[in-house]
Parts: sequence; structure tokens; C-alpha cells
Amino acid sequence: MLRLTLETNPYARLLLEALKQSGCTVFNDRHFSCENCDGCVSGGFDAATSQIVLCQNNIRQQSHMNRVVTHELIHAFDHCRAHVDWFKNVKHLACSEIRAANLSGDCTLMNEIARFKFGLKGHHQTCVRDRAIRSILAVRKVSKETAEKAVDEVFDACFNDLEPFGRIPHSKADAKRAYKDFQNRDRYTANL
Ligand SMILES: [Zn+2]
Repeated sequence: MLRLTLETNPYARLLLEALKQSGCTVFNDRHFSCENCDGCVSGGFDAATSQIVLCQNNIRQQSHMNRVVTHELIHAFDHCRAHVDWFKNVKHLACSEIRAANLSGDCTLMNEIARFKFGLKGHHQTCVRDRAIRSILAVRKVSKETAEKAVDEVFDACFNDLEPFGRIPHSKADAKRAYKDFQNRDRYTANL
């Protein structure tokens, strides 16, 4: 399933390409680890080893694998391009969680349901905020208030940072377009 994601999913392929261009080439056997995890955790990014952990006991569908790999690759991209202080600065963590929730499609499926159910226009933002807070609470021993405060303080800046997608990919077709644009962007800068 992981191989299929890395070879065919446009979100993952764009991120792998962007990581490579930022000087952080991803090697499948070095940077991914399939493990059994406690609880209902799907995956994680280990900043100390630059490794993405995939919880093989909790990922049963290809679409789920696609989303988890994309989410964690966004953390890997942030880790590569910025000096992220994952452990001491909760705002840094909050920023990357906002970006991962916004750009990975984590909120897309729920968006569909919400649109069908309530027709709420601001649901995407609400979903991104909620998921970012939940992700922080899952990995750090901080209070809910601390997590909420960190997310709210950096929300606008980080929600609007769409690198390397250049847009919020709401579907695979969006991600494909973003991937194509990214490759073209590369072509233009290569000619300078
Ligand atoms: Zn995350």
C-alpha cells in the first residue's frame, strides 16, 4: 500500500519532488517504517530520526494510507525547509499541524459530509483548527488551552502557507493540477 501511494498518489508525488528539490531526498527503506501502534494512531513523523512511522495495524484502506503518508510528508517537508523546533516550541508544531490538516485532504472527506449535512461554508477552517489541536494533544503533554492558544496565534499565517501545493488540494484532481504546476515552476526556474 505504501509503495502504491508513493508511486501513484499525486499529493505524495508532489511532496517527494518538493523534498528532493529542497535537498531532502526521501529513500523508501530509510525514511518509512511500518509498525504496530497502540490505540488508534495512524502514523507519525519522528523528527529525531527523520522517519515516518505508519501504523500497519490501523491502516486498512489505500485511501487512508494516502492521507496518512501525505500528512506526514508535509511534516517532513516543514522539517526539511525550516528550522522547526518540534519539541520546545508548541507554535512551530501547531503551524505544521495546521498545514498538514489543511493540505493533506484530512478535512476533505469530512467537508463532503458537512456540506451534505449542514452546508457550512467555513467548515474547512473549523475542521483544520480542530484537527491541529487534536494532533498536538496526541503528541505533547500540554493542556487543551495551550494547544488552542498556539493554533489560534499562528492560524492565519500557517493556513495561508500553501507550499508546496500553491492551493488547497480539495481532490485528487486538484492535487494532480498542483503537481503539474509544480513541475512547470521547476522548469521555468531551471532556465534562469
Ligand atoms: Zn501531524
